[in-house]
Amino acid sequence: MFEIHNNMIDDRIDEIGENHVGTSAKTPLRADAFDISDEEKIAKIQDSVKDILETLGMDLTDDSLKGTPKRVAKAFVNEMFMGLNPKNKPSASTFDNNYKYGEMLVEKNIIVYSTCEHHLLPIVGRAHVAYISNGKVIGLSKMNRIVEYFSKRPQVQERLTMQVVQAMQEALGTDDVACVIDAKHLCVNSRGIKDIESSTVTAEFGGKFKNKETKREFLDYIKLNTTFD
Ligand SMILES: [Zn+2]
Repeated sequence: MFEIHNNMIDDRIDEIGENHVGTSAKTPLRADAFDISDEEKIAKIQDSVKDILETLGMDLTDDSLKGTPKRVAKAFVNEMFMGLNPKNKPSASTFDNNYKYGEMLVEKNIIVYSTCEHHLLPIVGRAHVAYISNGKVIGLSKMNRIVEYFSKRPQVQERLTMQVVQAMQEALGTDDVACVIDAKHLCVNSRGIKDIESSTVTAEFGGKFKNKETKREFLDYIKLNTTFD
């Protein structure tokens, strides 16, 4: 009985991963995630990567492979997954909207390089972020930084989209924020069904962006001169 139950849970976990279903809007981090330093993490991951490559039969005395475990470990901690650590969160400085610009502001084609948390393979695409100011404005490069920060985690595209919107809402003190992400998942494009052309679109519309016309206006803006190749 226990075994059957266990198999069912395993199947369910496999199904969640293969279908890229996220289980929560928050990145599933443990409470002790930052109890050890980045340097300690790099050392541990280096050993693990060495183990993986050796298990695969690679000769790590070869000059070409010698430095790989350390390189991978540093890339994981300092680059690909640096957005897990709150110390890397971009400061959300805002400015007063002095010229009383009351229309929608759209930042298009923000490059997204993320990592699918189910296969640890790249998600590559573009994010389009919009907000309507209620008195505060945010620097344009800040919007890119926010997208980058949440991209640099093991991710699910839906969660990334929501996290960008939530961070912008908090920074600007308004619900009127929207984000659309169009991205290719290399786990889909290179494995299994090998569908090279397909991409995944996710969208989160907050506050006024739930209104049909406002949503339409945003979607019309991002259609202009936007290519996804
Ligand atoms: Zn995947």
